[in-house]
Amino acid sequence: MRSPFHGRGVERAPFRSRAVVIGGGIAGLLAAQVLSRRFESVMLVERDTPPQQPAPRAGAPQSRHCHLLLLRGQQLMNDMFPGLAAELCARGAEPIDWIDDIAMFWHGRWVPRFPSGMLGHCSSRDLLELVLRERIQRIPSVTFVSGHEVTGLVQEARQIRGVCVRARDGGRSDILDAPFVVDASGRSSRAPHWLQLLGHDAPEETRVDSRAGYASRLYEPPPDASHDWRVLVVRALSPSSRGGGIYPMEGRWLVTLTGYADEAPEATERGFDEFLRALPDPAIGDALRGARPLSPVCGYRGTATQRRHYERLRRAPDGFVTVGDAFCAFNPVYAQGMALSVLAAQALDRGLMTQRLRGDSLTGFAARFHRELAKITHGPWLMAIGEDFRYPTTQGPRPPASVRLAQRYMNLLMAGMGDDPALLRDMMEVMHMLKPPQALFTPTILARTLLPAAKRAAGVALGAG
Ligand SMILES: Cc1cc2nc3c(=O)[nH]c(=O)nc-3n(C[C@H](O)[C@H](O)[C@H](O)COP(=O)(O)OP(=O)(O)OC[C@H]3O[C@@H](n4cnc5c(N)ncnc54)[C@H](O)[C@@H]3O)c2cc1C
Repeated sequence: MRSPFHGRGVERAPFRSRAVVIGGGIAGLLAAQVLSRRFESVMLVERDTPPQQPAPRAGAPQSRHCHLLLLRGQQLMNDMFPGLAAELCARGAEPIDWIDDIAMFWHGRWVPRFPSGMLGHCSSRDLLELVLRERIQRIPSVTFVSGHEVTGLVQEARQIRGVCVRARDGGRSDILDAPFVVDASGRSSRAPHWLQLLGHDAPEETRVDSRAGYASRLYEPPPDASHDWRVLVVRALSPSSRGGGIYPMEGRWLVTLTGYADEAPEATERGFDEFLRALPDPAIGDALRGARPLSPVCGYRGTATQRRHYERLRRAPDGFVTVGDAFCAFNPVYAQGMALSVLAAQALDRGLMTQRLRGDSLTGFAARFHRELAKITHGPWLMAIGEDFRYPTTQGPRPPASVRLAQRYMNLLMAGMGDDPALLRDMMEVMHMLKPPQALFTPTILARTLLPAAKRAAGVALGAG
């Protein structure tokens, strides 16, 4: 194979000759796919040597925890990779009706279940990543540079021209020249620091930290398990933040527990079992009776919702963009990250197509792309930080008053979902990003939320009187 470092020389590399992607997680893989349509060659640099089987790897420790791909993300990924959902299911993912197949304890009661047509699948992140990687490995213009770490950016006349790369086995360092670099290296991206070293400003950061903690464990389901759900979720009941779920993972059960600040689950067997007993409903603990643990308890911290405002840079370097968690990492409890990565890949594709129509140059593209990505991210960001601030232990800049008001309305809506299947469906569609949050504020839904809420309040008042 030709060495990936055998470039054409910085000064001669024209727009569309080569793109480099930093990071081979979900966002990097999706970016590589769209770039392969717009560039002659794409180099995907990943510091891990990825496993050949669905298995965790050092660079993505979060894969040991539940990774739900929201329906919007599933649908868009399936458009990008035709037949993806069918392939995942053939390799062990579980087909799911996101209302009928989920037993969900929410807002203090079990919500109704019915065939909803909201059909998707549930798999481990490891399987999803493996299948995406295999698909991209089949694209002739994409080269995987695995076991290599990007250590910096290269620029020429304030235009990014490539990356510095070092082999992780102690091998040599080199420069990979490319007129277009996409940072998909995740929430601990070093790109702000690299940009500063080159004389650029680092992007401002906004950080909201609910100090959400995770603990997860794999189980073999009990041999005599008899239940009518595929996913079992016990959501936190305010003011407590403790919640959890059982998710099917290629024939096994992944049990993931979450809690905020002092309520975060301990990553020990004892802590895990105690946490199960402290959930607002015992259903998960009951279902696990007779289940055989297949893994130790794994913990995860460092889950702040953090946004790097590349869109605000006054003089953004051309030829460098960020996607995925490197741009905006969400509190994972809301399961938005992978769906947002697909939306970012699509925005990249659209943007590059338009840019091409403007001529053979990348001038101004990065700034335009980051502004577009900021717009796409803003709604999910407000939703996430609005939810985070339900808990007084959350730290960071508070959301606007309008979001706090909307939150109070959402409380009423959730309280009504148990008696109104249509309301539940509306809510699930918004949570799965199939509809924007504004869809919950139409006159019909306002009436279906507020009238029963007023009746409930009147009932409580009469009962009290
Ligand atoms: C505990 C937890 C649970 C989550 N649950 C969900 C969920 O249910 N649903 C959902 O949609 N999202 C979830 N997420 C978020 C989701 O994982 C990410 O949003 C999504 O995968 C996009 O991540 P990414 O590809 O941007 O970054 P990452 O997945 O972090 O990938 C970054 C990659 O870059 C590589 N890398 C880093 N630095 C370098 C370098 N210098 N050179 C070369 N390679 C480098 C790393 O090895 C890694 O492979 C969860 C996250 C966590 C932490």
